[in-house]
This record gives sequence, C-alpha cells and structure tokens, in this order.
Amino acid sequence: MFNKLSLKDFDLKGKRVLLRVDYNVPLNSNLQITNTKRIRASLPTLKYLIEHEAKIIIISHLGRPDGKEKPEFSLKPVAEKLGLMLKRPVLLTADVGGTDTYKYVRTMREGDIIMVENLRFDPGEEANDFDFANRLACLGDIFCNDAFGTMHRSHASITRLPEILPACVGLLVEKELSVLGAAIESPKRPYVVILGGAKVKDKISLISRLIDVADVLLIGGAMSYTFLSAAGFSVGRSIIEKDKLELAKLLLDKAKRQDVKMVLPTDHVATGEFSFSAPSAVVQSKNFPNILMGMDIGPSTIKTFKHYISKASTIFWNGPLGVVEFDRFSKGTEEILKAVANSKAFTIVGGGDTAKCVEQAKLQSKINFVSTGGGATLALMEGVGLPGLKAIKERI
Ligand code: AMP
Repeated sequence: MFNKLSLKDFDLKGKRVLLRVDYNVPLNSNLQITNTKRIRASLPTLKYLIEHEAKIIIISHLGRPDGKEKPEFSLKPVAEKLGLMLKRPVLLTADVGGTDTYKYVRTMREGDIIMVENLRFDPGEEANDFDFANRLACLGDIFCNDAFGTMHRSHASITRLPEILPACVGLLVEKELSVLGAAIESPKRPYVVILGGAKVKDKISLISRLIDVADVLLIGGAMSYTFLSAAGFSVGRSIIEKDKLELAKLLLDKAKRQDVKMVLPTDHVATGEFSFSAPSAVVQSKNFPNILMGMDIGPSTIKTFKHYISKASTIFWNGPLGVVEFDRFSKGTEEILKAVANSKAFTIVGGGDTAKCVEQAKLQSKINFVSTGGGATLALMEGVGLPGLKAIKERI
C-alpha cells in the first residue's frame, strides 16, 4: 500500500542527514524524562545512520512553548539521555537552526550526532513557514522523517522540508506503514477490531472505514452509549453525543448491510456519579436504570468480547473500554487486554491511551505491534492522507 522512499534508497556515507524525530517526551517537575519510549523508538534509525557513516542532525519538538524560547521545554534532558543510550556524545545546539547550529554542523564528521534545540522555540515551525524550513534545510543534504506521531501535522519540519530536500522515511515510519497498511489492505481473517474511548465524533470515519475491512467490531467505552441509544436502548445518564445519533444509526445499518458484526455491550458497570468512590452495580443494556451512567463494560460483555478475540487472526484495538483512570472501572479494559495479549492473532494496538494501558499492564512484549502514533495512527487507518507522508515521494 505504501512504498515511500526510505533510508535504504540513499547513499548515506558522509551525507548530512536531517532527521525529524518525535522526542515529545513526558517530563516531571525536575525536568527528568518519565518515559523514554519515544527515544527508544528512534534508535534503529539512528544506529542505521551511524553504521552507514552519515552525519546526523536531529530535529524535534517538545511540548508547547508557543514559538518562544522557554528553558523548561529545552531538549537538553533528551540529548543527555540519547547520548547515554547510544554511548556517544549528542551535542545540543543553543539555537534553532541559527549561527550556533551552523557552527557545529560545519565541522561534523561521519557518525557525529547533533541535536538542534526545540523546533517550536521558533514560531515558524507551527506556522508551517517556508523561510524557517529553508533555514533548516541548509543543515542537511537529505531529509528523513521518522516522527510518525507527528506526521498528521502541517508543520514546517514535516511538510516543508521534503519540498526542499531529497526526502525519505526512517525505519520507524517504514514499520508503522507496513503494519498499519496491511491492517487496512490485507488483514488475515477473521479480523476483529476493538474500539473504545470517549468520542464517536473523533472516530466516525475510522469506524466507517473499518466496517469495510473488518469482520467483527467490538464497541465499548463511552462511545458505545451513542450506538446503544441509536439502536433503541435507554442508557440512563451515560454520556451520549445526541448530534451523532443519526450517524451512529447509519453506521449500524452499514455494518448490517455488509454483514459485519457490530457487537455492543449487553451489560455495564454503572454508577450514580462520575467519581472513583461512588457505589456501582452491574446493569443490563435491556434494563438500564434512568439514574445511572455506564462506566465500564460488564462481565457478560467481557465474556462475549473474549469469545470473538479467541477466534481472531488479526486484532486492532483503539480506545479504553471504560473509565480506566478510576481503578474500579478499568476491569473491562484489563481483562480484554489480557485476552488480546494471550491470543494467537496478530495484534495491533493503536493510539495514545490504549498504548498507555498496555504499558501499565506491562504487556508490550505480548502485543505484536504497539503504534507510536495517536492522531496519526487513526488518520492513517481512516485513509486520511498524512501531510508528512504525502510530501515524501513513492519509490519508482
Ligand atoms: P479517547 O481519547 O477517545 O480514546 O477516550 C479515552 C477516554 O475515554 C478515557 O479518558 C476514558 O476515561 C474515557 N471513557 C471510556 N469509557 C467511558 C465511559 N463509559 N464513560 C465516560 N468516559 C469513558
């Protein structure tokens, strides 16, 4: 499906490779990195560039400094951590593609690594400014985008740089494209999709697209209440999106027409108020009390979902099935996660919240592929073109 130019298509020896990564890592109040996942994800590409004797100039954003130099958003902790991981110096420039950066880049040798300070210190990055991109482009001979989680953004380092320099994707993006591309184009069947999370609004086109490719859609989380309501059930005080009821009906009809099973929860863990301590009870979809709201899928639904999971050959999951922020409403998500981890299917988890649940349960090694994207993963699965991807040429 995707056959973009990759690092393997370029002779890298002695070339300055401007590498866009996603080092938007979480920091605590002491500016220490609390999760190094994004740095680790970039290591295969960095090692490849080192082995092929490129000169490596890393660019990334971190947080939202709003176009101003704010020390709390400096990439300094990232440069230090990366240096430790690679066991070689990673020099952080004092400016964003200004005189300090040029000074370092001019004297680089093969295998050297320089990290340019936070791109978002310059307003040109988020403004998708061509002049800013031109300044950055002077730093490299080749542009490589390995920032999958940022490819849905129209920012200068994502969409403008590939207009100026010969451009390709890195190994991380290549892997994302091959796994997610296959999950849309040629999944092994039965293909079971699990969808949860809060908003139908954000996932309508994803659901519509998945009805075209999946065999079974298991729907949980807050979004299931909009579907249940559209199917004629009362859902008490559960969150529903009234303006999306018609669309939810259309999606249910579409699934029926295409003989795709759209499985909605038959029972729920419900409570009278949105809090971690309020008493809860298991209630049935057929008989949902007016005064309660659904916070998690119930035991029968868990059993049904597990049944479909046990039959699957491919599983794609996005979105928690309950209010996982409160321990007592995270059971549905945890149980289904265990079932997915133990299934023989090829398993893919996409999206920030779900990936976080996998990490918390320490089940990463039992999931075949955890996508590094949130919005970018969903946009790719939906078939919405990613601006950062469009900008890179296909292999001929
Ligand atoms: P999303 O960003 O769309 O993946 O939504 C994730 C959020 O959905 C999490 O913060 C969950 O707490 C929330 N969520 C899941 N199930 C429910 C529910 N039954 N009621 C309210 N919020 C929910």
